[in-house]
Amino acid sequence: LLIYYNGEFVPKDKATVSIYDHGFLYGDGVFEGIRAYNGRVFKLDEHVDRLYDSAKAIALEVPITKAEMTEAILETLRKNNLTDAYIRPIVTRGIGDLGLDPRKCPEPSIYIISQEWGAMYGDLYEVGLKAITVGIRRNAPDALSPNIKSLNYLNNILAKIEANAKGGDEAIFLDQNGFVSEGSGDNIFVIKNGKIYTPPTVNNLKGITRATAIELLEERGYEVIVQNLGLFDMYTADEIFVTGTAAEAAPITLLDGRKIGDGSVGPITKAAVAAFEEVTGSIGTP
Ligand code: PLP
Repeated sequence: LLIYYNGEFVPKDKATVSIYDHGFLYGDGVFEGIRAYNGRVFKLDEHVDRLYDSAKAIALEVPITKAEMTEAILETLRKNNLTDAYIRPIVTRGIGDLGLDPRKCPEPSIYIISQEWGAMYGDLYEVGLKAITVGIRRNAPDALSPNIKSLNYLNNILAKIEANAKGGDEAIFLDQNGFVSEGSGDNIFVIKNGKIYTPPTVNNLKGITRATAIELLEERGYEVIVQNLGLFDMYTADEIFVTGTAAEAAPITLLDGRKIGDGSVGPITKAAVAAFEEVTGSIGTP
């Protein structure tokens, strides 16, 4: 497997990060998670745009153009003969002396990792995930905005640890005001009386799969309402599903010990999964 590093391709076992890379030292960097299905990269322009927006938000100037980044991602797949893959571009502040000041880093580092990948939840797409609302809150929009896909994922990891400890497959974040935010790596959709609700993206990542799901569901005649949701809305929902590049569209059938609806995967969730399957080629199988 070859890893892209600043314009070169390096074998996986030789691809190392300097201990002075501020991405490693301080989490000073941004990243993307992208999928390729059947040799086609899914929503590549959207992911490259979001990567550059994340970089812009932390005042990190990516030293190559978007077109060059796009080509570097495609070249990484070609070099590795990958058609169904997960792709992880990372841009860090680069290598510099100890100390937070970004001026210590003259040149950002760019890494692109790719590997073969199937859907992350295996058999759970059939039965649904058990989710746990965690005590740790998503970053406030006025602090480290959850819109920035930064290398600071510690609260998402703490959320996973909490969910794992409580026997959950996925964590659900609330925001600082108690509104539903998102999962540890996916956005949330809630269905009640045939209508589909999803929180606005102030308190969560502007998910590209979320946007795709909204488009696909609206095309199929469903109404999608963007509004703040509370835990009550989740507990009393008929169906809940989450969307993300890694998770694709995954049902949640149990939340904090409460069955969602009758506890089985509901019809609108199935329609969302089927719609997603149509555009990606397949769901759950690499
Ligand atoms: N929320 C978080 C925190 C994520 O890390 C991700 C994954 O990228 C998502 C949501 C889903 O976003 P997308 O559909 O663009 O992958």
